[in-house]
Amino acid sequence: MFTSQYPIDRQDPLRNDESALKKLWRDPDARVLPVHQGRCLITEPATQTAHLNWLPVQEPWQFSDAIFLGTTGDTPWFTINLSDAELGTLALPAGAKFRDLRAIGMRINHDDGALLIYAKGLTHWHSTTHYCSRCAAALENTQGGHVKRCSNTDCAALEFPRTDPAVIMLVTRTDEDGVERCLLGRSPVWPAGMYSTLAGFVESGESLQQAVIREVHEEAGIVVNNVQYMTSQPWPFPRSIMLGFRAEALTSKITLDEVELEDAQWFSRDDLNRFGPWGDANSKYQLPRVDSIAYFLLEQWRSGTHRY
Ligand SMILES: [Zn+2]
Repeated sequence: MFTSQYPIDRQDPLRNDESALKKLWRDPDARVLPVHQGRCLITEPATQTAHLNWLPVQEPWQFSDAIFLGTTGDTPWFTINLSDAELGTLALPAGAKFRDLRAIGMRINHDDGALLIYAKGLTHWHSTTHYCSRCAAALENTQGGHVKRCSNTDCAALEFPRTDPAVIMLVTRTDEDGVERCLLGRSPVWPAGMYSTLAGFVESGESLQQAVIREVHEEAGIVVNNVQYMTSQPWPFPRSIMLGFRAEALTSKITLDEVELEDAQWFSRDDLNRFGPWGDANSKYQLPRVDSIAYFLLEQWRSGTHRY
């Protein structure tokens, strides 16, 4: 997971100082992560970890389109959305390609993964948010690209990047045979054989604990309690954060919501030990991707790192 430590200082106070930000943009040490249609510039050596490609500021990039990510030491970091036309004129470093997080998430180092998520989320917001939600006038970038302000001075509403909370939960119970089992399901759109923890979006007016209880009951007909927060993972597809929980099941009979799930089953730790890795077509059952919070929750339980 890309969430344990953050590799740069976001420098929130600097976002209000436009002249300082312009100076950083002109700094020869400034580096920019170009993003095209949600894909970041990546070098993916055959035998090494993939990494982000940061480029010097260059024509025709404009400060008004740049998004300030923060600094490390004396190095300012920015990201920017590239148009199709700009993509055609950009001289790329040897071997660099625009790649999606889903494609390289399991091969990129954690610091670069965290920055990729940050840049992908903000550039998506910029590419989809152009007009004021109150009066429909055009929005203007401000605060280093972290806020947009309505250009209609009678309105002057501010728009902020949204993050949509989703809960993801490992549900467990100890059966009458004394064996503890966890509840995993599979969506019909997932790769064949892959099973994972249940998940769903938090609804308006709902606490996170209520969302966990509701989602598990809706999707699998299982009643749970003792909902405990474990960890979280930003998930920019396009703007979610996955909030990871453990919960204890009070019932065991599974009743599927067949729109959401095509199957759900209880699995013991021994069962999980026989699962293949994600993408292993030779295994009847496969684990989620190793870079997912679902894998983290499962592995913590399977290995006994966390128990009630
Ligand atoms: Zn407005």
